Amino acid sequence: MDSNIKYQNLKKKFRRVKKNCEICGSSNNEIFQNYGRTSYPGEYGLLRIVICKDCGHKYQNPNFSDNFYKEYYKELYREIAFDGKSPSNLYINQQKQRGKKVFDWYASVYKSDKGKMLDHGCASGFTMAEWEKKGWDCYGIDPHRPSVLLGKKHGYNIKISSGEDLKFKKDFFDVVLSLGSLEHSYDVNKSLKKIYFTLKESGHLIVRWRSDKIFGSPLEYFNHNHYRFFTINCWKILLEKHGFRILLDSSKKIEGWESYDYFIAVKGTKQKNLSESVKVNGLNYKKEILKIEKKRKTYYLSCKKIVKEFTKKQPSEFDFRRFIIRENISWGLLGGDSKQVIKRSILEAKRYVIEYDNGNVF
Ligand SMILES: [Zn+2]
Repeated sequence: MDSNIKYQNLKKKFRRVKKNCEICGSSNNEIFQNYGRTSYPGEYGLLRIVICKDCGHKYQNPNFSDNFYKEYYKELYREIAFDGKSPSNLYINQQKQRGKKVFDWYASVYKSDKGKMLDHGCASGFTMAEWEKKGWDCYGIDPHRPSVLLGKKHGYNIKISSGEDLKFKKDFFDVVLSLGSLEHSYDVNKSLKKIYFTLKESGHLIVRWRSDKIFGSPLEYFNHNHYRFFTINCWKILLEKHGFRILLDSSKKIEGWESYDYFIAVKGTKQKNLSESVKVNGLNYKKEILKIEKKRKTYYLSCKKIVKEFTKKQPSEFDFRRFIIRENISWGLLGGDSKQVIKRSILEAKRYVIEYDNGNVF
């Protein structure tokens, strides 16, 4: 069965529930987007994102119950996200290179001795390759069964599990690495609690997160696969709540992508007062909405130009690129078959104009 149909069927089996802000606990929020990607890139539908009026955190609300995500990550997640059950060789090599880049960055900042490392959301574990080469004792967990089984065949010490359900001893790891996983955790508080428990005193939590700079279409940025849309301020509140402190944050293109940000946090002993932390780090939600509205408007105007220019005939990649440079349009073109990429770009632009005019991305 087509994985999209399986996904839609799974969604029908579970209900959506309203949730309070997972960072500060407030029920006081405002909808600021109604519509977004609900499956494969380019497939849009009802998707409600709210912003917390107390701390400025953005998250999907209502959202599915935990059991939905347990089911989803078992098999379907990568089929939907990567359009295939197991990672390709290209993906494997990319993961190894990315792992090396993150390792080199970490080693350049903290000349840490070898120790025990957990890759939280490791997929098939290839990111751990460089760490193992440098003598680290590596462990990985991921809820996606086919990915973990493949990694095991390659000899990685990984298991099918989730961050919410970490089963390691207290103070076991020197480093927990989490590359783009905490946006996918169905319970980010539980995950951070478990990470805190298993990490040694003064141990490091290294995180790659989706930057809030929002590249490309807001309909793609605010999508079904990410349950929360972080800012560095919201990270600070969440981390302080769980006993971590950010030592270093970076927007460097460590893995080569502009849309990722990173931080290294240390496990401390003191828990800060939550309301104090919200007061210090919380975002003014109205300002945050204005900031995003400005981006949406700019993006909308770019989409209008593209739609107007290319209504009748699909351009070649060369013509499309020439047009966006001439018009000073910041447009993210994905890799892959050039015809398909341009076709999708134009469809995305058309869709955005329609939904913006309909008031669904206000
Ligand atoms: Zn909040």
